[in-house]
Amino acid sequence: MRVSRLHGVADIRLTDEPIPQVGPGMTLVRVTAVGLCGSDLHWYAEGGIGDATITTPLVVGHEFAGVIEGGPAHGRRVAVDPAIPCETCTSCRSGYRNLCPYIRFAGHDRLDGGLQEMIAWPTELLHALPDGVSDSDGAMLEPLGVALHAFDLGHLHLGGTVAVVGCGPIGLLLIQLARLAGASTIIAVEPLPHRAEAARRFGAVPPENAQADVVFEVAGNDAAVDTALELARPGGRVVLVGIPDEDRTSFRASLARRKGLTLALVRRMNDVYPRAIRLVEEGKIDVSSLVTARYPLTETPAAFIAATRRQGLKIVIEPQR
Ligand SMILES: [Zn+2]
Ligand SMILES: [Zn+2]
Repeated sequence: MRVSRLHGVADIRLTDEPIPQVGPGMTLVRVTAVGLCGSDLHWYAEGGIGDATITTPLVVGHEFAGVIEGGPAHGRRVAVDPAIPCETCTSCRSGYRNLCPYIRFAGHDRLDGGLQEMIAWPTELLHALPDGVSDSDGAMLEPLGVALHAFDLGHLHLGGTVAVVGCGPIGLLLIQLARLAGASTIIAVEPLPHRAEAARRFGAVPPENAQADVVFEVAGNDAAVDTALELARPGGRVVLVGIPDEDRTSFRASLARRKGLTLALVRRMNDVYPRAIRLVEEGKIDVSSLVTARYPLTETPAAFIAATRRQGLKIVIEPQR
């Protein structure tokens, strides 16, 4: 089968590799759609993310969907939850599976992710896709899951005000979730015109001196964090979703302290796939329009270059093409 493997900074090679072994409790999945994510770009452009660095060649991609190959569920379309928690540690047993210190994650460290024709994955982490949810919609469930989890951490009250700093796909999903959850005003801060335009399309407005009860920072740099703190009302809540390039976040302490802000940090998501699927199936959240380009697996390097240039919104690779 064909595999797109990252060997080092900006070095993706298309290789021919054997179909993966299917161990007990695992299912073989033919990958149909893989979304490229900001975190994949960290692996691609910097050879790592946070304090994790590339040691052996890695198949990235953690936003993906596919079709079950073989077994009783052969042919079923599924979204793949990319996180494999240990299920036995204290975090897992107390309901914080996303905080499991032993968690393994697709396309991270030494666990190959979605940019290949086939993958073997724990059966219990495959979520059946309803007919109305396309393969690329299925890949979008991962960023929607992250947005849902971040949204939950915002504790928005009905009729409250929201600000989103950084309107890539997750920021745009947060805007939609805020609207759906009854936010009165949604402020969007985004320097790139095509993203700002998308934010407007989903009902967000520019800042204009307003302050928000809940602010989501989805850019991953200190300037955005400062903007988020400035937009928060006294006593407000700021949810940090972005991942900084350098493994450090800093902000003006006086700004946060004088307003008595509460900061929440997001670690991926908890068990939100079923909710994400329902929201897309019922047409309450639009993920389809966020997919603005599709590439075959053979054009993975071009797809990464386009993503690095922040062209469009979500870029999806279709390994079966
Ligand atoms: Zn991601
Ligand atoms: Zn655990």
